[in-house]
Amino acid sequence: MSNEQIHAIVLKSVAASDYLQKISLHERAALMHSIADEITELGESLIQTAEQETGLPNARLQGEKGRTVGQWRSYANAIKSGLFAEARIDKGDGVQKADIRKYNKAVGPVAVFGASNFPFAFSTAGGDTASAIAAGCSVVYKEHPGHPATSQIMAEAIQRGLRKHGAPEGAFGYIQGAGNSVGEALVLHPAIKAVAFTGSLAGGKALFNLGVTREEPIPVFAEMGSVNPVFALPEFLQQNTSTFAQQYVGSLSLGVGQFCTNPGVLVVQKDASLASFKQQLQEEIAKIPAARMLHQGIANSYNQGRSQLLEQQGVEQIGAGSAAENGQGQGAIYSVDAKYFIDNPILSHEVFGPAGLLVECEDQQQMLAVLAQLGGQLTITFSATKGDMKQYVDLFNLAQKKCGRLLFGGMPTGVDVVLAMQHGGPFPSSTDSRFTSVGPDAIKRFLRPVSFQNWPDELLPQELQESNPLKIERIVDNKRELAYS
Ligand code: NAP
Repeated sequence: MSNEQIHAIVLKSVAASDYLQKISLHERAALMHSIADEITELGESLIQTAEQETGLPNARLQGEKGRTVGQWRSYANAIKSGLFAEARIDKGDGVQKADIRKYNKAVGPVAVFGASNFPFAFSTAGGDTASAIAAGCSVVYKEHPGHPATSQIMAEAIQRGLRKHGAPEGAFGYIQGAGNSVGEALVLHPAIKAVAFTGSLAGGKALFNLGVTREEPIPVFAEMGSVNPVFALPEFLQQNTSTFAQQYVGSLSLGVGQFCTNPGVLVVQKDASLASFKQQLQEEIAKIPAARMLHQGIANSYNQGRSQLLEQQGVEQIGAGSAAENGQGQGAIYSVDAKYFIDNPILSHEVFGPAGLLVECEDQQQMLAVLAQLGGQLTITFSATKGDMKQYVDLFNLAQKKCGRLLFGGMPTGVDVVLAMQHGGPFPSSTDSRFTSVGPDAIKRFLRPVSFQNWPDELLPQELQESNPLKIERIVDNKRELAYS
């Protein structure tokens, strides 16, 4: 797509952004439900197209489609309560103290880059698009080159939902074509006011740098994944050696390891249960069949990442799954002594796919050094008993500084779309750890506060008018005024 074509699409999105801000929260929510209805209506041809383009299995795609619809509906319901308008009213005294009223307003058109690994839930009609429209921003979407036909079907469903409400088509602009120059032109367009991205560290960082060095800098919310370390503490590991090996390998190999929350690093202590645990890991990974990865580029970089791991001092392969054909990913688990891990930053790089690295530590001090060596993470998991946690307080405290979501037990793959979810952590897992890209709070990324001082009531936005016509939750003279709907 040429720069002129991109320019024309962005211009339409400016007018549409005004429209989305002008309609009421209730109308915007209804429009979002219409888009959800249109996605629900999409039949087997959507699933088949996505299956063909991504290699993801039918059942997974069916589930992801349901999640995508759920995101539109839950973000729509969240805005209706006024939770994100964050209306604050200080009425003043009519004499010296001014009447000041503040609420959150849409930032303007948002550029969205979809992820290859979630062709529905984090792509064209995914969480970034839904949260931007919920905020009242139009979206200009750059298609992911890994699934263009799937994107096209989703884009048409969004357009049908918009038309049903008489909304302008520019509320969702669609940019076709592969190549960095297309995305760069979009981020550099002066009418774009924010960017949402999910993908590689190289891509996210490049777009972030572009966004902040524009004449008018803009926020670039990039979620770039991490190794999501799992700390398996001694008492827990002794009690659960074989079930835990099974659980870990299940999570590591889920979706051919192509999740940003994939647990790529497993940290343990060298104690009596370690030999048997490694044996169990070897047996479990051997059961994992090789499977097609999302695209050839991802398969190539997975294989390069594995080769690079094996070249590092102290790294050995514990076991592997069935052999892979071209384009497939083979499950594999490696081990390394913590003393090598601590001195070698290459070992803490994400290898996107079903490869795990077991890091063997002498004691808690060495576990702390391993965690200190790691960059910011989306998640950190403690596979531990409560007794373990009492002994490992320092590790727990350091973990809280390093990630967005802390798990006690379970595995980090699987990210619930709920208000309390945090999906985003310190760099390099994301570019702004204050925000989440999953759950209704993702809407906050595309809002900015505006105050109105001494304005006549009828000229104020509905969110701030005296009678509270939208019946939303507000704080009035420091007291909470509850939502009625
Ligand atoms: P990607 O290469 O980062 O691409 C994501 C999107 O950004 C694509 O639309 C791509 O389009 C665009 N893009 C990438 N670099 C750009 C740049 N410098 N300037 C402008 N646009 C750019 O991600 P991917 O293709 O999905 O997978 C590649 C790797 O990303 C994987 O091997 C994995 O390591 C990582 N990944 C991480 C996650 C996660 O959840 N964090 C998800 C998927 C993949 P063009 O190629 O058309 O420019």
